Amino acid sequence: MQSLRWLSLAFVLAVPNLAAADQLFDVQPVVPSVWAAIARPQYKVNCNASIIELDDGLLVVDTHSKPSAARALIEQIKTISNKPVRFVVDTRFHWDHYQGNAAYLSAWPAGVEIISSEARREGIEHRGIPRVKNQLMEVPKEIEKLKSDFDKAAGPEQRAQISENLRQDEAYLAELKTMQVTLPTITFDRSLIIHRPSRNVHILWLGKAHTDGDIWVYLPKEKFVASGDALQGSVPYMGDGSPYDWIKTLEAAEQLNFDYTVGGHGGVMRGKAQFQLWRTYLIDLMAPPRRTPTPGGKA
Ligand SMILES: [Zn+2]
Repeated sequence: MQSLRWLSLAFVLAVPNLAAADQLFDVQPVVPSVWAAIARPQYKVNCNASIIELDDGLLVVDTHSKPSAARALIEQIKTISNKPVRFVVDTRFHWDHYQGNAAYLSAWPAGVEIISSEARREGIEHRGIPRVKNQLMEVPKEIEKLKSDFDKAAGPEQRAQISENLRQDEAYLAELKTMQVTLPTITFDRSLIIHRPSRNVHILWLGKAHTDGDIWVYLPKEKFVASGDALQGSVPYMGDGSPYDWIKTLEAAEQLNFDYTVGGHGGVMRGKAQFQLWRTYLIDLMAPPRRTPTPGGKA
């Protein structure tokens, strides 16, 4: 029975490799010489990236959950520009945003600077690195659970999905085992501006939000902002968040003059409606719980 199970699993695993470069990201222009790399759904989620062309090279915002995903995007980047990547900006210390850093140093060994806030670099050192070690213990349990789920799958469609998830998880574990956590090489307190003749890139820390060290990348002339997970296309993840500060940080970000936002997940956002939606969500979250009126008593 066991061998039959693995025979059928091997058969399902023989589907084409879904991790091919052009299947991880949809790269689309947002404003002239700025592209959004929108991550396609994966079992081990990748964040989006923004690619910003400078006079002498490229700046890439965020590096996904693993070096192989960053390498996949690098191949796509080479189809839109022949300039080297000179700067990488990590918007936060969460695994799905920085674990691919090393791929950029390998692709352009002449020198890539990795930029973040000081708070975010500390976040990697004190929380990111321990979490990588924790993943090395947790991912094997996930894999066992997927194998168990495969045995209980309702039909071929569900088995195929679980098999694909299992393939991705096993590949992720293999990468984790050899992953070199690569720390930022340039940090700043509140803001850093890269000045070039064609454009200035403002890299900003506007306050605590999704994490302590969230970074915003702002192009004032082009009215573009990359927001990481401080604002993205889904709902806020509160795990390391500071809801009160987050509201203030969103208010500060809204003061910037922009039309387009690329968040850490989801599609390109136009205007500021998502900011207002998230502020309302966070304000509701901070509201004291309503007390149920007691008969004859005060509310
Ligand atoms: Zn994320």
